[in-house]
Amino acid sequence: MAIVVPCYNEEPVLEDTARQLTDLLKDLTQRGIISPDSYMLFVNDGSTDRTWELMRREFENNDLFCAMNLAANVGHQNALLAGLSQVCDMCDIAISIDADLQDDIGVIEEMIAKYKAGADIVYGVRKERKTDTFFKRFTAQSFYRVMNLLGVKSIYNHADYRLMSNRALNQLMQYGERNLFIRGIVPLIGYKTDKVYYARKERTAGESKYPLKKMISFAFDGITSFSIKPITMVMLAGIIIIFCSVIAYIYILASFFSGSTVSGWSSIMASIWFLGGLQLLAIGIVGEYVGKTYLEVKQRPRFNVEKILRHDAANSNGDDN
Ligand code: UDP
Ligand code: MG
Repeated sequence: MAIVVPCYNEEPVLEDTARQLTDLLKDLTQRGIISPDSYMLFVNDGSTDRTWELMRREFENNDLFCAMNLAANVGHQNALLAGLSQVCDMCDIAISIDADLQDDIGVIEEMIAKYKAGADIVYGVRKERKTDTFFKRFTAQSFYRVMNLLGVKSIYNHADYRLMSNRALNQLMQYGERNLFIRGIVPLIGYKTDKVYYARKERTAGESKYPLKKMISFAFDGITSFSIKPITMVMLAGIIIIFCSVIAYIYILASFFSGSTVSGWSSIMASIWFLGGLQLLAIGIVGEYVGKTYLEVKQRPRFNVEKILRHDAANSNGDDN
């Protein structure tokens, strides 16, 4: 098993996190739940503090600790992917978790149990958000709602705390897109999934790396890289306005013939409504093509073959668990 931890300026929590995870790994190994060659991989996402220095020191003193240094800050999602791609061929299961350990590491054992029971992906889901501020709770919840409304499959109250099997990881690596929103992609992989529930703790030290600005851009990224519905909405608006223009025409003609208009008003009003609607519709149509192109260039895998049953020598695809 591998535990992947992305870290950006996590100097205040790093040592404690490493110690807690080490204790956990030792305990699970001792009880025969995971193999003795399990390890953790910390990814330094271009930190500007002493994070990397601490990692190097930890590596010297701890056999279970591996470290990876990214040359520049690439953001949580990319840092996590870097770590996962590194461990993907060197583990049977990988668990990703934030460096601040706000997510309860106590449920890792339960995750593994669910993996052993046949799940390829086990999501860590927050039971409640008592420790979050009202603001964070509200923004996060609206985020999931909007995502679902726009047709992006995502797991409610699940961040990037999850277990993935080797074959699920390999499939994740097939997604070559740049605008990476791992949380949205993982549900597309398929396989049997399961959830474990836990209470999210407060950050013990250091501060959140997701200020409002980053949260908004994260949400926007998530939506625009999964859905072209906003474009369809523009088109819909165009159609509605063209429809309105018919009503406006009746009103304009009526006023014109009753003679209660200033000269020139009728023709200007008629053009504004109709042309406005037509323009929106045209933009929407162009947008649909741009949207299709966008979906194409991502070259996402179209399917994920889990197994083939055939009556010849090569009997199955993928590994048997
Ligand atoms: N993180 C990262 N690169 C960044 C920002 C954050 O690797 O550019 C990591 C960070 O070190 C932490 C995780 O992403 O392990 C989640 O960040 P944080 O705990 O600050 O977010 P929050 O829990 O407040 O949503
Ligand atoms: Mg956190």
